[in-house]
Amino acid sequence: MIYQGTARNPVTELILHCADTRPEWMAGNPLVEKVAEIRRWHVQQRGWRDIGYHWVIDRDGTVAPGRRETEIGAHVENHNRGTLGICLLGGFGASADDLFEKNFTQAQATAVNRLIAEIKGRTMIRKVSGHNDYAKKACPGFEIRSAGFGI
Ligand SMILES: [Zn+2]
Repeated sequence: MIYQGTARNPVTELILHCADTRPEWMAGNPLVEKVAEIRRWHVQQRGWRDIGYHWVIDRDGTVAPGRRETEIGAHVENHNRGTLGICLLGGFGASADDLFEKNFTQAQATAVNRLIAEIKGRTMIRKVSGHNDYAKKACPGFEIRSAGFGI
């Protein structure tokens, strides 16, 4: 199991997000630099102590860590405890009910499925959700269940 924070909340849910970036955003830069840029947005512009997400998935399916899994994230109001935030790069201008393929790549779909399976091997995941399941937002720019990620 993964436990978060001093209260040791067990992680039981994954919540998907998008970065709301254009497909070509920072293309050619390594993913670590893109993660560093998102971290700057969250720390300098929003005043958070770290990037809000635990994992970031690039357009080519590369996965990089964000905030440590054992720390409570900052990605969905009132649903940060016991959840991990996974952010897909892309999704600029997306709608909540777009098809996954409209805004994201096949490599990202494969990477999401792999990451979900890998985390399930380490903690008891009961649910995979999208930000738009909890807020009136487009994020992550598709419906989790119709995209085949929901459980
Ligand atoms: Zn989101």
